[in-house]
Amino acid sequence: MQMPKQKGILTVVSGFSGSGKGTVMNRLLSAHPEYGLSISVTTRAPRQGEEDGREYFFRTKEYFEQMIENDKLLEYAQYVDNYYGTPREYVQRQLDEGRDVILEIEMQGARQVKRRFPEAVLVFITPPSIEELENRLRGRGTETEEVIRGRLAQAAKEAEAMEDYDYILPNEDGGADKCAEDLHRIICSEHFKAVRNKERIENFKGETYILKGETK
Ligand code: 5GP
Repeated sequence: MQMPKQKGILTVVSGFSGSGKGTVMNRLLSAHPEYGLSISVTTRAPRQGEEDGREYFFRTKEYFEQMIENDKLLEYAQYVDNYYGTPREYVQRQLDEGRDVILEIEMQGARQVKRRFPEAVLVFITPPSIEELENRLRGRGTETEEVIRGRLAQAAKEAEAMEDYDYILPNEDGGADKCAEDLHRIICSEHFKAVRNKERIENFKGETYILKGETK
């Protein structure tokens, strides 16, 4: 009996701006390069050190709106005055080929993904405390006070949405490697869920005649 190949699992990772989720994602991908990481499109300006096509595809508002119109995005959202969205094609192709894909997106997008893909796994990464979150955000030194305030207000809103997620994953200080491994374990376990193994179950059921000593 040939075992069917499972489709890839779509995992959504969210967390407050400053939760350290970016570091967790980097650690996860260097330890497990087999994951496909979707690169989003955004209308925000690149931060120092960011490169087009690596952190994001940096595009104009007009370009982004054209993508919405042409249904090129799996999900999108406006976040602190900018658009962010996931290009549909890459994600769909990877999943069809059986590769697990991770989207690092905010909560409005996460909700859209869950509606379209009910079997997607939603993971919310939390910092050790709210005070620590504010310190990290200010310590980054890359944003203006106005942007920082916007992000803190957004974090308060996002806290309301935590219950919509399947997993709450703490990223304690210095624990980005552990957090990345925990995330990897979550995704590994998801592969064993019965709902993801329907074809396998059917194959077994279809061959139980052997156990009964019957012929097909
Ligand atoms: P940042 O500007 O700090 O890179 O990202 C701001 C927020 O946008 C983060 O919470 C990040 O997860 C989210 N984000 C990044 N890409 C996407 C995307 O494609 N879709 C959505 N909905 N959110 C995104």
